[in-house]
Amino acid sequence: MTDLISNCSKLGFGMMRLPRLEDGNTIDVEQTKEMVDRFIKAGGKYFDTAFIYDGSEEATGKALCSRYSRDSYYLATKLNASAFCCKSREEALKEIEISLQRTGAEYFDFYLLHALDHTNMGRYEEFGLWDFVKELKERGLIRHYGFSFHDTADVLEEIISKHPDAEFVQLQINYNDWEDEGIQSRKIAEVANKHGLPIIVMEPVKGGLLASPPQQVRDIFSKIDPDASPASWAIRFAASVEGVMVVLSGMSNMEQMNDNMSYMEDFKPLNAIEKSAIEEVIDILSKLKGIPCTGCSYCTAGCPMEIAIPDIFTIMNMYRINNDLPKAISEYQDRMMEAPASSCVECGQCESACPQHLSIIELLKEAAATLEK
Ligand code: SF4
Ligand code: SF4
Repeated sequence: MTDLISNCSKLGFGMMRLPRLEDGNTIDVEQTKEMVDRFIKAGGKYFDTAFIYDGSEEATGKALCSRYSRDSYYLATKLNASAFCCKSREEALKEIEISLQRTGAEYFDFYLLHALDHTNMGRYEEFGLWDFVKELKERGLIRHYGFSFHDTADVLEEIISKHPDAEFVQLQINYNDWEDEGIQSRKIAEVANKHGLPIIVMEPVKGGLLASPPQQVRDIFSKIDPDASPASWAIRFAASVEGVMVVLSGMSNMEQMNDNMSYMEDFKPLNAIEKSAIEEVIDILSKLKGIPCTGCSYCTAGCPMEIAIPDIFTIMNMYRINNDLPKAISEYQDRMMEAPASSCVECGQCESACPQHLSIIELLKEAAATLEK
């Protein structure tokens, strides 16, 4: 496998869930700067943003690119050509210019075709985007190109066979999805390894789900190491997978950053006892059936009813995973009644944007029936 990075921690800083100011929307750039400094001081170099992460490229420009020399870090961003993001080929081609302008980065070390799956991969072909990224590399605007991916191992095999020149792949790998039939973390990692493609891991804690697992899972972990956080188990699991170059963690505050660095500064793969604890946990979680939403929010931008879909699913998981219906109802009624699940008009926009392929409309109906009592 080619080494695309050197002298770099295996932990990457995912810039999708940056800290927010009190209004809940604006990125807290000052806190982001402190986190960037802490990350770099501890040996971190890899930063991951995307054209469609609201405000993230601009904040990355302010907190990182304008403050550090360009050769001291690796920066990844993504071109998204899905219908919910751009209307035409011209719009897709323009994204790199806008990304460069927002970050002030001069070039990107890693440039990804974003969130490929069987529903949108044809559009990336039709727009000639594989040739386009090759051209960007020749022009020196990017160093390496690859893609992020949300589908089954067969689809991954198909894309790599068509584009053997891809230099790396970004995959959703976490212990909860390891044997999941839809996400297929184990199988997609095996496909990448077969083709010798370095793996960048996204969603190692599944949008935060594995950072606060149910009590029975916590009990298993704390019997082995009472001081280790649940997130540390999830991130170390992902970083222990063969072929993994970087694990992205979408850190939102300094506490998460300090926790992540405490075990990734001097990373040790899971040992045999820890691996068998994870197997036990996978078995428990497979029976609990939480909604596998990662909180990416791609679904919310075009919702005509402004429904906070991921927040509703988080609350539903209080009921589905922790079996705490009174708490779920009270949380829902406090926070969600301005745009409740029952206000969904079933336009389907959210479902076409969801990389997890969730049946959002049906899940919202379930939420309305369960929580709007
Ligand atoms: S289907 Fe419902 S939740 Fe989805 S975008 Fe349309 S109104 Fe919003
Ligand atoms: S429902 Fe899908 S698109 Fe929306 S936040 Fe969850 S995973 Fe992301």
